[in-house]
Amino acid sequence: MANPTLLILAGDGIGPEVMAQVTRVIDWFGAKRDLAFDVEHDLVGGAAYDKHGTPLHDDTMARALEADAVLLGAVGGPKYDELDFSVKPERGLLRLRKEMDLFSNLRPAQCFDALADFSSLKKDIVAGLDIMIVRELTSGVYFGEPRGIIEEGNERVGINTQRYTESEIDRVARSAFELARRRGNKVCSMEKANVMESGILWREVVQRVHDTDYPDVELSHMYADNGAMQLVRAPKQFDVILTDNLFGDILSDCAAMLTGSLGMLPSASLGAPNADGRPKALYEPVHGSAPDITGQGKANPIACILSFAMALRYSFDQGDEAARLEAAIEKVLADGARTADLMGEEGGTPISTSDMGDAILAALDASL
Ligand code: NAD
Repeated sequence: MANPTLLILAGDGIGPEVMAQVTRVIDWFGAKRDLAFDVEHDLVGGAAYDKHGTPLHDDTMARALEADAVLLGAVGGPKYDELDFSVKPERGLLRLRKEMDLFSNLRPAQCFDALADFSSLKKDIVAGLDIMIVRELTSGVYFGEPRGIIEEGNERVGINTQRYTESEIDRVARSAFELARRRGNKVCSMEKANVMESGILWREVVQRVHDTDYPDVELSHMYADNGAMQLVRAPKQFDVILTDNLFGDILSDCAAMLTGSLGMLPSASLGAPNADGRPKALYEPVHGSAPDITGQGKANPIACILSFAMALRYSFDQGDEAARLEAAIEKVLADGARTADLMGEEGGTPISTSDMGDAILAALDASL
């Protein structure tokens, strides 16, 4: 059988620096676990603009649609701030998300024990935390029509429309239930069915999808405002949280802070399954291109490496190998390895981006 294909778009700023460490990890799995990928590299963001005058070349878009998964570093930087909106680096990323129709955004909030002190919450509330927020990404109030600012009488009115079709809710609900089956088998769906019709429909459709096709998964419903409260009160009660675009935007940022550092947060965006059952997928760290530390060897590669772990689990059905990689990272952190962003109040000497890569590879070797 042909190897699965991975398209790597390292992008700008620290993107290529962290992606260099991911590439070493990918090579390790090929050499030591008989898990080889056909890896291609291409440009996105400012790097693509510099070469092609566009933040995503049509050929790159076509390769992304062909690939079994896309791994992205980061885009943007001060050099591109003055560019016209239509060619800004971020437009490359938006085009990828749109044309791949990535409607399900996965943001894990996982707290490594060694970093529990970084959370703004008490250690016992977050230690061992492992939750996943599934946010609908391509519809809802950020896209609904009518929208705009209109004149009404002698004042202006700002309008946005929360709009969800049954099929949009259905497909993202399926994505959450599928995920739950690979994790703790629990989904909590959040909306505001108490005050919004779109919330009533959301709740109905999620329940229907559950009863029809996923009765083995434990499902609960919660109003999103209560969900926000529960996330900071007792986050470990959750496994998968399913929610819409707007609530997901807010709840996922809130959940991210439970775990402390931006350099640690991976994400995935999934689309509809292909003929072979594998969803179109883009994996990327949550952080940006970090121009303030670019080229200094200070970037933490863990968010990007954890994004590859998500690819192993969700695109390639290699949950055990993903767990091996996550355990290697957990061990490295427990042994005290810290890039500059992870230096706590106790101080110490930070290690470089490539030193962190070395440490993770050594921990992977030790796992055999
Ligand atoms: P940022 O995430 O790049 O950086 C915020 C802060 O976190 C900085 O101090 C940075 O040094 C630090 N940081 C981020 N990632 C880190 C890592 N892996 N290791 C250590 N420290 C890390 O956000 P920003 O400064 O608001 O944006 C910088 C540029 O990135 C902008 O052009 C922005 O548009 C772009 N951006 C891109 C994405 C993306 O590609 N998905 C996301 C956010 C921002």
